Amino acid sequence: MTAVPDKAADREAVIELSGARIGYRDRTLMDEVNLIARQGDFLAIVGPNGSGKTTLLRTILGIQRALAGRVRHRGRMGYAPQRQVLDPIYPFTAAEVVAMGLLEPRDEEEDELDRRTAQQLVNRALEACGMIDRAEAAFRDLSGGQKQRVLVARALVFDPEILILDEPTNDLDLRGEHEVMQVVSRLNDEGRCVVMVSHMLHVVARHARQIAFIHDGCVDSGTVDEMLTEERLKKLYGMPVTVHQLSQGRMIAPGELS
Ligand code: ADP
Repeated sequence: MTAVPDKAADREAVIELSGARIGYRDRTLMDEVNLIARQGDFLAIVGPNGSGKTTLLRTILGIQRALAGRVRHRGRMGYAPQRQVLDPIYPFTAAEVVAMGLLEPRDEEEDELDRRTAQQLVNRALEACGMIDRAEAAFRDLSGGQKQRVLVARALVFDPEILILDEPTNDLDLRGEHEVMQVVSRLNDEGRCVVMVSHMLHVVARHARQIAFIHDGCVDSGTVDEMLTEERLKKLYGMPVTVHQLSQGRMIAPGELS
């Protein structure tokens, strides 16, 4: 297991796991996890279904405790859960969904937010995600990509330094995916640390700068160049994977292509 190497190691570590055991009381999912994400990093977490990606995010967020070792974060965190969990049950407007982010517990002293301030925070977050024009639309009537941007806005409502996203582009069409990732990339370019669980390797290859693979109870991490190799992907998925280097970035496909 390696820590994420970082040429700019002087950037502040905002998430740090050392010797962490992640899982549930009767079930360890991964052990001896050492992982650092720094200010401005874009860390993708990739691994098979059931490997523990969501559990790792929940542990980073402090929703559940590590079974051993240390998990620390510095700065505010905003979390966008998987969209599919929320889709069908929300009889709310986009603005109301974003306002729910105001109810999440915060680290700092909780001040009562007056109505006007709350409205401003919601509008600022919707604006940042290109959704201000749909503020009064019913959440359930939005497209998948628009719903996801509303959930990113909800995570953004307290202007967090760390943005944690669980599979933000799953089930989106190409346009929806592009619009969501444009927003996420811009938020990262502004200096936020983004931690994103994703199965979509082309999205990871295009946007992430660091990758953590979860495999067989271990976390292996490094830069995108170090991690997106045919050898490592073959080990992760248990099948051949072709990686085509392009002049900018790479294309990844299952199987051996000539
Ligand atoms: P992933 O996000 O990689 O698909 P999860 O973190 O959702 O994986 O789940 C990892 C494993 O932990 C799964 O096998 C799941 O069934 C199990 N799991 C999830 N929640 C609990 C729980 N509360 N108690 C015990 N096991 C759980």
